[in-house]
Amino acid sequence: MKSPQKLEPEFVDFIPSQVDDGKLYVSMQYGTVVHNCCCGCGNKVVTPLTPNDWKLTYDGESVSISPSIGNWSFPCQSHYWIRRSSIEWSGKWSIEKIEMGRQLDREKKKKRYAALPQPAVAELLVEKQEVHVSTSSVSWWSKLKRRLQTLF
Ligand SMILES: [Zn+2]
Repeated sequence: MKSPQKLEPEFVDFIPSQVDDGKLYVSMQYGTVVHNCCCGCGNKVVTPLTPNDWKLTYDGESVSISPSIGNWSFPCQSHYWIRRSSIEWSGKWSIEKIEMGRQLDREKKKKRYAALPQPAVAELLVEKQEVHVSTSSVSWWSKLKRRLQTLF
C-alpha cells in the first residue's frame, strides 16, 4: 500500500470504526487522535491528548502533533512527526533508546501523580461521603412513606 505524504485532519465526535489511510481523526470530546500508521501497514495509531502524552496544534488549516509518533509496538516500528499535516519521517530508534523513552515516560507520570495535593484529595473524599449521607434516597423515601401512612 502506498504511504501518504500528508494527513487530512477530520474533526469528529466519535472515532469511526473504519479509519481511512491519509486521514487524521481528531476527537476533542475524548481528547484522542487516531490515524492509520503512515507506513501503510494498516495498524491503527491512537495518540491520546494529555499533558503527559501528545499535544495537538491546529492553525485553522493544518494540524501538528508533538512529540513524534513512534510505533514501537508495531512490526514496522515506524517513527515520524506530523507537522502542519505533513509526515516527516524520522529515524528508527534502537531498543535501548525505546526503553529509555518508556522509562522517561513512566517517571514523568509518576511525578505528576505525586504532585497532586494529598490533603485536597482527602477533603474531597470526606465531602463526597457527607453528600452521600445527606441525600440518601432511602431516608427520604422512608420519611415520605411514614407521612403517607399517617394520611391513609
Ligand atoms: Zn506501520
